[in-house]
Amino acid sequence: TAQETLLEVNNIEVIYNHVILVLKGVSLKVPKGGITALLGGNGAGKTTTLKAVSNLLHSERGEVTKGSISYRGERVQDLTPNDLVQKGVIQVMEGRHCFEHLTVEENLLTGAYTRQDGKGAIDADLNMVYDYFPRLKERRRSQAGYTSGGEQQMIALGRALMSRPETILLDEPSMGLAPQLVEQIFGIVKSLNEEEGYTFLLAEQNTNVALRFAHYGYILESGRVVMDGVASDLRENPDVKEFYLGMS
Ligand code: ATP
Repeated sequence: TAQETLLEVNNIEVIYNHVILVLKGVSLKVPKGGITALLGGNGAGKTTTLKAVSNLLHSERGEVTKGSISYRGERVQDLTPNDLVQKGVIQVMEGRHCFEHLTVEENLLTGAYTRQDGKGAIDADLNMVYDYFPRLKERRRSQAGYTSGGEQQMIALGRALMSRPETILLDEPSMGLAPQLVEQIFGIVKSLNEEEGYTFLLAEQNTNVALRFAHYGYILESGRVVMDGVASDLRENPDVKEFYLGMS
C-alpha cells in the first residue's frame, strides 16, 4: 500500500535579499509515517528548504519566488509558522534555542501553550516526553541554560512534541554533539517514529548516521536535488560512498 504524502515541495526557488538565488528548483515528498532525510554539505540549502516549508524565511529577507508547497494537498505557503503548527507541522531549529532562564520542564511546557485540550492531556504528553528522554526527567527542575548541548537538543525536540505535531522538521540534530549522543538522539527519533507514528523530515550533514536511521534521502548540492532514493540504496551507491560517506 502506498503511503500518503503529507508534505510536498514542488520545484521551489528561494531568493535572499532579492538577488541571491539559493534554491534552484527543489522538489521532495514526505510520506506519512516516514523518516525522510535532506542531506548535503555546508551551504547546500538544507536549512533554507526547511525554513521555506515552515515559513520562517521572511525574517532573513528570503522568499519563495517559484514553485509550491503543500501539506495534505493544501497549499501552505502563505500560512504563518503558528498556522502550520495548528496543521501539525513544527520545526526544531538548528542551534536549539532554549529559554535559558526557564527550567527544563517550563521549556517543555512552552511547546503546549496553544493547546486547548486541557491539563490532563498536556501532562500525559509531558510524561510521554519523559519516557523517551529520561535524562530530561532527571533534570526537569534545572535551569535550561545550565544543561549540556545534548540535553538542549532533547529539550528542543521535547518541546516540539508538546505541541502534538504530526510532522517534525528537524534541523541538523547531530550538530555539535559527540558521536555517542548523536546515536542516542537518532535512536530516540527512530523510536518516536516507530512507536508514536511521528513523521520526520530531517536536515543533516552527517550522511552516515542519517542514512542509517532514515527511510528515504534527498541529496542537495548548491540548491538542487542531485540524487534521491531509498536510504539503503543510497548507502550502497558508489557516488554517495565516495562523496558523502568518506569511503570508496
Ligand atoms: P548549513 O549546514 O550550513 O546550515 P545548509 O545546507 O542548511 O547549510 P543554508 O543554510 O540553507 O544551507 O544556506 C544555503 C545558502 O544560502 C548558503 O550559501 C548561505 O550562505 C545562503 N544564505 C543563507 N541564509 C542567508 C541569508 N539570510 N541571506 C543571504 N544568504 C543566505
